Amino acid sequence: MSVEPFDAIDVIRAKRDGGSVPEPALRWMVDAYTRGYVSDAQMASFAMAVFQRGMARDEIRVLTDAMIASGERMDFAGLGKKTVDKHSTGGVGDKITLPLAPLVAAFGVAVPQLSGRGLGHTGGTLDKLESIPGWRAALSNDEMFAQMQGDVGAVICAAGSGLAPADKKLYALRDVTGTVEAIPLIASSIMSKKIAEGTDALVLDVKFGSGAFMQDIDRARELAETMVALGTDSGVATTALLTDMNAPLGRAIGNANEVRESVEILAGAGPADVRELTLALAREMLALAGIPDADVEGALDSGRAMDVWNAMIRAQDGDPLAALPVARETHVVTAPTDGVVTRMDALPFGISAWRLGAGRARAEDAVVHAAGIDLHAKPGDTVTAGQPLFTLSAEDEARFPRALDALEGAWEIGAEAPEPAPIVRERITA
Ligand code: URA
Repeated sequence: MSVEPFDAIDVIRAKRDGGSVPEPALRWMVDAYTRGYVSDAQMASFAMAVFQRGMARDEIRVLTDAMIASGERMDFAGLGKKTVDKHSTGGVGDKITLPLAPLVAAFGVAVPQLSGRGLGHTGGTLDKLESIPGWRAALSNDEMFAQMQGDVGAVICAAGSGLAPADKKLYALRDVTGTVEAIPLIASSIMSKKIAEGTDALVLDVKFGSGAFMQDIDRARELAETMVALGTDSGVATTALLTDMNAPLGRAIGNANEVRESVEILAGAGPADVRELTLALAREMLALAGIPDADVEGALDSGRAMDVWNAMIRAQDGDPLAALPVARETHVVTAPTDGVVTRMDALPFGISAWRLGAGRARAEDAVVHAAGIDLHAKPGDTVTAGQPLFTLSAEDEARFPRALDALEGAWEIGAEAPEPAPIVRERITA
């Protein structure tokens, strides 16, 4: 039996008492946890110590590196194209990956978009795309490589279990021990997977506001700065945008309805906020790929990005022209008075859509693709009494009462329009 070079209790105590953990001990802790030598109880205690004491930049770098080293590293060097990825910290109605990946690929850049499924009130890109009949999320590394190398250029698929398995184990533990919202742990978790994925460049959409991980813009900035530094230190050209997630993004919250809205964006139409954010992120991604003045608006309006979308969906066995599922039951909420919509809080709308069946409570649950919410008005819009404000959709009308409960106090009609605010607030670079 080999002798372990460190003791978990010493690592935990060092962090608990506010010190920093020396590199070899931190690397060992991650490796020993992945092997099952360090127990869940010990790792949870360590995560709580990090939550309370924080980590120095160098410790976060070592933690990230140790999580990368726990699994495989993908390598796209043989593609002969630049690769650029995007990661969003998650929000309500955030379907941007769907129009963004084909838009960027329309300029000859490869987009390896390894995505996940939704848990809780934020949706998952794969759940949305699985509303498309036939579409397949699971691709082998060879299929992914071939799709990026060929004419399609973009691939959105499930991240394999080989990338950063230490993070997979640690994230599940954090989820049940109240240690998710620690900046060093979030940053290392996200960046270990993105760096292991092997992308040349990465744009981070770091959200703040009621529907985001970080409610407060200052904490979102700190998270963005930490992740940009981690990417840059690892040789991945990384920038971040801080974007507003106080109100739902666009008019669709769910799965099939978010695909419909994404197709509208690819047709040069769709809600202004979704278009604005798609264009802003595409410009950032293309600038990192060495194409700083790409005509991204032209690529949407001319249908070039739509052609890539159709090819991307077909390459994964989906039918981009097939009808998307429609819910059996709907419930319309109307404006009680004349006025202006002053507020629609993203979080309760996300929770409501989740209760309608659009999201899952446990990883093994299935989502209902047709369930969700369609907004007919957004903050700043003038409405008259009796006008539809939003429609809830579900397979079973028994879902409506709890979904409506979630929306109690979540929106407001007043006399004065709120100040219009840009969706992109700040840009963070290395
Ligand atoms: N997403 C991740 O992948 N990890 C986190 O810690 C938070 C969000």
